[in-house]
Amino acid sequence: MKHKFELPDGVIYLDGNSLGPLPKGVAERVGKAMNAEWGANLIKGWNVDGWMAQPTRVGDQVGRIIGAAPGSVVMGDTLSLKVYQALSAALQMRPDRRVVISDSGNFPTDLYMAEGLIRHLDHGHELRIVAPEEVADAITEDVAAVMITQVDYRTGRVHDMGAITARAHGAGAVMIWDLAHSAGALPVDMSGCDAEFAVGCTYKYLNGGPGAPAFIYVRPDIVGDIDPALSGWLGHEAPFAFDLDYRPGLGIERMRVGTPPVLQMSALEEAMKIWEEVDMDDLRAASILLSETFIAEVEARCPDLVLASPRDPSRRGSQVSFHFEEGYAAMQALIARGVIGDFRAPDIMRFGFTPLYLDEGDVVQAAVILEDILTNRLWDRPEYRARNRVT
Ligand SMILES: *Cc1c(COP(=O)(O)O)cnc(C)c1O
Repeated sequence: MKHKFELPDGVIYLDGNSLGPLPKGVAERVGKAMNAEWGANLIKGWNVDGWMAQPTRVGDQVGRIIGAAPGSVVMGDTLSLKVYQALSAALQMRPDRRVVISDSGNFPTDLYMAEGLIRHLDHGHELRIVAPEEVADAITEDVAAVMITQVDYRTGRVHDMGAITARAHGAGAVMIWDLAHSAGALPVDMSGCDAEFAVGCTYKYLNGGPGAPAFIYVRPDIVGDIDPALSGWLGHEAPFAFDLDYRPGLGIERMRVGTPPVLQMSALEEAMKIWEEVDMDDLRAASILLSETFIAEVEARCPDLVLASPRDPSRRGSQVSFHFEEGYAAMQALIARGVIGDFRAPDIMRFGFTPLYLDEGDVVQAAVILEDILTNRLWDRPEYRARNRVT
């Protein structure tokens, strides 16, 4: 499906786990949203161009990728805010409990949002951050919510969603999954795993573009009881009644907050069309083949690099990471040669594998270039050591 993406010539893109590339047709779709919708129809666009229904329409497209029923996912805001919405709702569902469990492999913003919520609630909640392998044992009867990111952003280690959710429910806790590095990377079955909430972003594997809106899933049988903390007007039962009091909207609509980013949502809606042709099991098999090939090639060619990801592919998401002391400079040197991955402090070189636009030839070629950079110390230049604002 490489032909469906606008990839620059000479680039091997191994960073689709951080920002997916531009799918063909998206620029035209956004142009149409600008000119034929906004430009020509002005405010009528909310009705005639379907802008108001877009967050749930696109939510259903995303829902299909994560095994969620139609009407259980809505788009909007950023993932950080969706984490806040899910956690605040979960804490309200367990008013007599005070503990939130997360793990040290979680992406910091999820932990920061939890800290901020707990501080401002001021009800004596505690965020307990445990090692990833200790999550199951940490879920005791005082736990209100378990908030875990399925795939570790640094190492790619995968949590067992079914097992942890069952453990949380066994202890009477509410389960929240962050699918930032799962949606579009591996098969996810929200309906089957029975968790109450899931959240995620769409600019990574779903190729929605920088700043693309996030998603939130709420299990259909509980959504009617959620009292949203971010009770914005577009989550109101009747926004255009302009009542002075908030009443939550019907079903998943109540997780909306304010005006949706129509242009950005149009880009995402178009990008999601690619997924109509993708079988997630086939995609997963192809991703494992790519990552296994890359590991074998890198380990044979680059003895200084130490695998940071689980060796067992079933315990790994769609990325592979290596420790290397000079990882930052080496990654800059790689990028200068057209092989784009990224770096995560303190010493992780991270490579994402996205079978929609990568094949085995690409990953072998990437390993060959990496070998050249390492054996000839091509990374050892001041311009490759200078840290950019985004790594
Ligand atoms: C990428 C990522 C985020 C980013 O949050 P934004 O609010 O979209 O910037 C949050 N959590 C996890 C687990 C991520 O991987």
